[in-house]
Amino acid sequence: MLHSFTIHRAAALLRAGEISATELTAAVLDRIYAVDNAVKAYLTLLPEVALAQAAAADAAIAAARAAGTLADLPILTGIPLAIKDVITVAGVRTTCGSKILESYIAPYQAAVVDRLAAAGAVILGKTNTDEFAMGSSTENSAYFTTHNPWNLDRVPGGSSGGSAAAVCADECLAALGSDTGGSVRQPAALCGVVGIKPTYGRVSRYGLVAYASSLDQIGPLAKDVTDAAILLGAVAGYDPRDSTSVDLPVPDYVGVRDQGAGDRGLHGLRIGVPREYFAPGMQAEVEGAVRAAVELMAELGAEVREVSLPHTDLALPVYYIIAPAEASANLARYDGIRYGLSAPADSLWEGYRRTRGQGFGAEVKRRIMLGTYALSAGYYDAYYLKAQQVRTLIKQDFELALQDVDVIACPTSPTTAFRIGEKVDDPLSMYLSDVFTLSLNLAGICGMSMPCGFDAAGLPIGLQLIAGAFAEATILRAAFAYEQATAWHKQKPAPG
Ligand code: GLN
Repeated sequence: MLHSFTIHRAAALLRAGEISATELTAAVLDRIYAVDNAVKAYLTLLPEVALAQAAAADAAIAAARAAGTLADLPILTGIPLAIKDVITVAGVRTTCGSKILESYIAPYQAAVVDRLAAAGAVILGKTNTDEFAMGSSTENSAYFTTHNPWNLDRVPGGSSGGSAAAVCADECLAALGSDTGGSVRQPAALCGVVGIKPTYGRVSRYGLVAYASSLDQIGPLAKDVTDAAILLGAVAGYDPRDSTSVDLPVPDYVGVRDQGAGDRGLHGLRIGVPREYFAPGMQAEVEGAVRAAVELMAELGAEVREVSLPHTDLALPVYYIIAPAEASANLARYDGIRYGLSAPADSLWEGYRRTRGQGFGAEVKRRIMLGTYALSAGYYDAYYLKAQQVRTLIKQDFELALQDVDVIACPTSPTTAFRIGEKVDDPLSMYLSDVFTLSLNLAGICGMSMPCGFDAAGLPIGLQLIAGAFAEATILRAAFAYEQATAWHKQKPAPG
C-alpha cells in the first residue's frame, strides 16, 4: 500500500532504508494504471521520467546515507507528485485543458517545478483542469471530465480537479494546483483533501500559464496538513522572474505544528466566524459540519467570535468583471502564430478567427467576450474601474476583520460535490460554487481548505481557514491542531 502513504511517512521510510524511491514510484504508477481509467485525473503521464527521477533520488539517498548527511536531504527527495496542466515542465506537453494547446511542448519550466526538481521530487505527470483554469468542476476540460473518487458520478470540483482527485485516489502523494478564485480550495473540499491558496506573491507564477494575473497563485493539494505545509515550504519563496513575487523569508511551515500540539492547543488564537458566509440556500450539512469544527476549535482553546465582511455579496460580480477582463488580455496571445494550434487560412484575420474559434471552448469564449466588453472604451469606467474600486472595499473588509481575529473560519464551498452534468448548462450556478473562496483572491490574502466532515451521501465537506497576507503559518497552526483532534483526513473512498 505504498501509494497510500503521506509525504512525511514515505520520507521517513526512505531515510530508514525501508523503501526505495523506485519502489514507491512504481507503486504509485501501478495505482494510476489501476484506477485512472475510472477517475481520469491525468492528462499526461510521465512514467519513464518519473522512474528515472526516482532512480536519481535513490542514488542521492544512498550517497547521503554513506556521507552521514541524511538529515540535510530535502524532504521531497524521491516523493512522487502530480502537476496541474497549467504549470510548465520543460519538454513536456502543457495543454491547459485546451485544444488550442493540444500539441504545445513547453520550452521552459515553471519556477515551482525547478524547486521541486532541485529538492529531488519525482514528477508523475500532468493533471486535468478546466480549460485555462476556468471552471469549478473540470467539465470545461476540452479532453474529459475527472470523476470524484468518493462517487464517480460526481465532479471533483475545479479547476484543479485532476490534482485533487489524484491526491484523493492515491494516484500521487501530493500535487500542485492553481487558485484564481478557489481552484485549489474548492476541489480540495469536494475531494476531502487539504489545499492551500498562498498569499499573492508567496509562490512564483513564472511558468504558470496566466488566467487572471492579479489573482492567480499556485498552491499545494495534499493528504494531510503536514504534507500541505511541506509542499508549500518547498515551492514558496522569492523569484526575480515573477515581478509580483515578494522577497520575504519562508517560515518553517511544518515547525508551527508543534506550537499547536499537546497541551497548548489553540490557546491565544482568535477565530472569527463571518456572519455573511452562512447564506440561506447553502447545504445544511455543510453549515452544521463547519459550525461543529469551530466549536471543536473553541474546545481546543481558541477564542471564537463573530465577524462581519459586509461586502461579501459583491465578491462574485466583481470577480466576474476582473477575472474575465484579465483573461481576455492574457488569452490574446493564442493567435495561431506563436503557440499551439494554427488553423490554415488565406488571411491573417481568417486565421485568428478559425484558430480561436476551433481552439477555445464555450466557457473560455464567454469569458473573453465578457472581459473584452468590460474593458472597451465607454464601458471601462462603468465596469472594470468600478470593480477595482469595490475590490478595495473587499480587501478592507478582511483587513478590518483581521484586526480583531487571527483566523477566519467558514465553509469552503456551499455544497458538497454535485453531479456531473448538473451545472454545465447554467454558468451562474457553476460560478456560485466559488462564492466563499474568490473574495480571498481579490484581497490577495491566504486561505486553505481541510476536511471537516461528510454529508449523508458520504461526500466530504471542507472547512476554510483564512488569514492575512503572509500569515500561512497562522492558518497552518490552527489546521494542525484541528486535524490532530479529528480523523476526517484518515477516511478514504472505497478502493477503486
Ligand atoms: N471557478 C472560478 C473561475 O472559473 C475559479 C477558477 C480558478 O480559481 N482558477 O474563474
